[in-house]
Amino acid sequence: MDYQELREQMVKTQLIPRGIRNPGVLDAMRRVPRHLFVDNSIAHKTYEDSALPIGRGQTISQPYMVALMTELLALRGDEKILEIGTGSGYQTAILAELSREVYTIERVGPLAENARGRFHSLSYENIRIKTGDGTLGWPEEAPFDRIIITASSPDVPPPLIDQLAIDGILVVPVGSRYSQQLLKITKTKDGIFREYHEPCVFVPLIGEYGWENAD
Ligand code: SAM
Repeated sequence: MDYQELREQMVKTQLIPRGIRNPGVLDAMRRVPRHLFVDNSIAHKTYEDSALPIGRGQTISQPYMVALMTELLALRGDEKILEIGTGSGYQTAILAELSREVYTIERVGPLAENARGRFHSLSYENIRIKTGDGTLGWPEEAPFDRIIITASSPDVPPPLIDQLAIDGILVVPVGSRYSQQLLKITKTKDGIFREYHEPCVFVPLIGEYGWENAD
């Protein structure tokens, strides 16, 4: 299969027509081999316009959602990013292409281990990963210029707002258990500003400042 051609088609038919314009984001989506972030048995489906299962009831997000959330972060290349919900590690890799360093937290140990292996085999040296409850953030490494939460939350976990730098941006799907809206938060010295974007559906953020359980 010509995966590079499939990526080009993904960019042309799924991302550009829906308004993704940032050239850096489009190039990263062309470069990162998404088919290496799922089980071999479904690799042929990876460039389709949908989320896919990655085991343990979790998913790799739809390409458009990855591109949109990345675009909302308005990356310039020198940021320190915190990502909550590593999953397959695909979104992490896209972020690592476009920033200085990415700290990523995954709640499910075996998923974190798989992702760690992928970062190693693809030679990403600017990613640090740990297993744990990401709703608590990574206080020893704060502040972060950008924070992205790739699981749905009833609201923004307060520790993550605390760990966001001034002039930082945080993106998170917020809402009910089964339907959410992307929220972009900008933290300035004058306060917190909220901007709502596309509707979306993510698996739940489970933890102290998220949902209580997986059901
Ligand atoms: N961005 C990922 C990718 O590209 O594959 C997809 C992430 S998946 C939609 C959401 C992930 O968030 C799941 O792997 C889930 O285990 C994880 N998660 C849920 N609650 C969490 C928490 N409190 N801390 C860290 N990870 C969490």
